[in-house]
Amino acid sequence: MAGDAHAGTPQGLGKCTSCGKFYPIRNKPDGSLWPIGTGGECRCGGTDFEAALQH
Ligand SMILES: [Zn+2]
Repeated sequence: MAGDAHAGTPQGLGKCTSCGKFYPIRNKPDGSLWPIGTGGECRCGGTDFEAALQH
């Protein structure tokens, strides 16, 4: 969203494509997913995440 003033607000869930662990994620301006609270990578070292819905 333009003018995003809540950079740390989770926008959904993302799943690590390497190990399948779920993280709260937000969308970066470049369109990729950023797992919040991880420094940008999964605890397994994976850096690729896919959007996931978890009900
Ligand atoms: Zn992982």
